[in-house]
Amino acid sequence: MNAPRASSLARSSQAPAKEALDELRAMMSGRAFAPAGNDFDAGREVWNAAVTHRPAIIARCVSVADVQAAVTVAVAHGLPLSVKSGGHDWAGRSLRDGGLVIDLSRMRGVTVDTRTRTALVDGGVTIGHLVQVCRRHGLLPVTGTVRTVGMAGLTLGGGYGPLAGKCGLALDNLLAAEVVLADGRCVVADATTNPDLFWALRGGGGNFGVVTRLQYQLHALEPLVAGLAVFPMRDVRVVLRGYREFLAKAPDELTLQMGVLGTPAGPGLFLFPTWSGERSAAEGCLATLASLGTPLSFSIGPTAYEDLLAGFDSFGEPGRHWALRTRSIPELTDAAEAILVEAGNGLTSSRSAISVHHFHGAATRVPVGDTAFGIRQNHLMVELIAGWEPSETDDGSKHRAWADRTAKALEPHAFLGGYPNLLGPGERDRALQSYGPNLARLLEVKRQLDPHDVFASASPALGQSAYPAIAAERKFRNGSR
Ligand SMILES: Cc1cc2nc3c(=O)[nH]c(=O)nc-3n(C[C@H](O)[C@H](O)[C@H](O)COP(=O)(O)OP(=O)(O)OC[C@H]3O[C@@H](n4cnc5c(N)ncnc54)[C@H](O)[C@@H]3O)c2cc1C
Repeated sequence: MNAPRASSLARSSQAPAKEALDELRAMMSGRAFAPAGNDFDAGREVWNAAVTHRPAIIARCVSVADVQAAVTVAVAHGLPLSVKSGGHDWAGRSLRDGGLVIDLSRMRGVTVDTRTRTALVDGGVTIGHLVQVCRRHGLLPVTGTVRTVGMAGLTLGGGYGPLAGKCGLALDNLLAAEVVLADGRCVVADATTNPDLFWALRGGGGNFGVVTRLQYQLHALEPLVAGLAVFPMRDVRVVLRGYREFLAKAPDELTLQMGVLGTPAGPGLFLFPTWSGERSAAEGCLATLASLGTPLSFSIGPTAYEDLLAGFDSFGEPGRHWALRTRSIPELTDAAEAILVEAGNGLTSSRSAISVHHFHGAATRVPVGDTAFGIRQNHLMVELIAGWEPSETDDGSKHRAWADRTAKALEPHAFLGGYPNLLGPGERDRALQSYGPNLARLLEVKRQLDPHDVFASASPALGQSAYPAIAAERKFRNGSR
């Protein structure tokens, strides 16, 4: 791997954005916007309306050459660079104050090869679009649960979803990537070409370059048996007892997400099973879920994956304010359950939710050193989602406090680190701890490929100042939490 030329990385925090914009416009086939007008506003729109970052330039790329031009111009003018795919990073790391945004939303081509059961996917494709295209061919990609999330951001950090038990994380299904590096070169990374980069991309986030194309393994698994059952909180003990029994014996084919969400009658406990095996085997197994309590609603049966994900569309709606916290726990102990039940009963708004992802089966059988992603043992990834409607009387503090309180209470029960995609900008140490024995190699790849930290806005921040965290890795290896 060649390091970028240091001379091309001269930075000046006072770089004139106007000159950069003119230069970029002369180089791009797509369009570049200054901070005025609808196009600029659309370009800086992200899922979390609480994000206030004001970039200086939005480069709406339509080709790899555009991306190369944007990287080159940003570096030459010392503009902070960021990459925006689906815009769903809750902390808004796809935008930087005074920076240049590489907006990939127009790069959304998908080509499916039914013979090899693979898909070539541009860097700006969302989960929903990919699933829709693959459906026409009777194939499924491995994705997360909300359709508006970007595939690139999801995959680079992990990609928990309804098929984790059967097929692993989204990143376990990545076969190759095309990447524009900090020095403007475009390279391919796969198991044999640039293998270090390929290894690091699978879990190390957007730290190494702009991923302009991804190749995924697809699967022929439809129809699935899946859906949503929502129970009143008064049933919580009995339903969670049943949930824990299901988890203890769940085969790879069953991935069972759980959580709490707002219903018209107040907080409700949800179970979200996805069965990807023989249909006849599912009927006996999943029918018992309804008998765990008295469901407020129950819609589990044969379904298309796309329709399944559509049930979570409300979580993708823009315009609300959000703050997310995460903990990864090895299992749902009585103590952890009590914390989640208290938090569920105390949801501070009808937008807030708890979502507990199920990591098991195929996802756990990938050796920890095979990809950068660091937590490969069975676990539950807990998302504490604080959401609220922005208003003069609600500054969000009580919602954030709810999520912070719950995350703190779960800390003694959790692994070191967490899910890097959901950790906040102030949680760098935790993010680094997430990589366990992979941290040293990951930092070395970062040092070689992006020594000047051009991709500093990635989650997590792996830049040079992160190096002392190698000590944290040793602590992790020694088994302390
Ligand atoms: C409503 C919601 C639901 C979610 N559901 C799940 C889920 O089910 N499973 C799960 O695992 N996670 C889930 N997440 C977390 C999600 O995977 C991360 O927030 C992810 O980073 C979002 O990707 P994006 O492309 O939409 O985000 P963006 O904000 O566009 O990008 C986030 C970061 O990813 C990097 N990045 C994005 N695209 C590229 C690229 N092409 N090249 C290089 N770097 C890039 C950049 O560093 C960027 O700052 C969810 C998040 C939300 C808000």
